[in-house]
Amino acid sequence: MNGRIDFWSLPSWEAVSALATTLAAFIVWWYTVETRRLRRIADDQLEAQVAPFLMLKSGIAANREEQNSAGHLDRTGGRPGVDIHVVNEGKGVALDGTLQILAGGTTITDWHYELSAIPTGKFITLVVAREDFFGDERAVTADRSFRAKFIAEYRSLAMKKYRTQVGVRGWDQHGDSADRTSLEYERCDEAKQNAGIRLQEIARQGNRVCYVCGNMILKGTPFKTVELERRDAKILRQVRDPDRAPKWRLGLRRTITVTACPYCERKVSPIEWFATGGQGKGAKA
Ligand SMILES: [Zn+2]
Repeated sequence: MNGRIDFWSLPSWEAVSALATTLAAFIVWWYTVETRRLRRIADDQLEAQVAPFLMLKSGIAANREEQNSAGHLDRTGGRPGVDIHVVNEGKGVALDGTLQILAGGTTITDWHYELSAIPTGKFITLVVAREDFFGDERAVTADRSFRAKFIAEYRSLAMKKYRTQVGVRGWDQHGDSADRTSLEYERCDEAKQNAGIRLQEIARQGNRVCYVCGNMILKGTPFKTVELERRDAKILRQVRDPDRAPKWRLGLRRTITVTACPYCERKVSPIEWFATGGQGKGAKA
């Protein structure tokens, strides 16, 4: 010994040093988790301040509030039209919107339209061909046997994606329905996170779920069941909503039985799929 003591080489110091390293690692880990948590809360609070919410507006209300009109999108191509008013009841502008309309009596057709940006509190009027919507251009009003579903997808200023689905019965010339049968509004990333819980809840209540759109099929409403071979399932799987619908898992017989709601039943028919080349009957506006 020359009088110099190397503290770090002593066994007790080694233990302290190891502990300090572990503690430091723990603090860094905790700090990261906490920062991430706070950041998520801040993001959610910011998002809540700019969240758009698209809804249908009745024709009567739209006529009364012409000052809130943010535009007229004519998608009739010169044919007789029917009005659909889309209002933003949220806190921030709705951007990059698309509107899918599934409408009809016994057969349901499927149309896609692009929307312009809708500022908060404002509405736009989409005029679609009566023939496309009602299946008959002479139709002026449609009774309660007519049903339609509107699915709007859009995003907030902060780039989060949202979806509103509205189901109605009946429809008149000016954009008024006899009654609203369903309304769902969701932030898509949250819907994806909560899909498992939602599907479990539907099963627990004894209801069915549509394997295409992921919506609940209430007891007593019609639905279609199809047993698909592995090959058909593989092709048709593309129509499944990846965020909301149950996963398509093949059973023991290497087939899968899928249930579909009235709006989606056409999409799980292999014949229809091949006849339309997988595109559906949509028209891009
Ligand atoms: Zn469906």
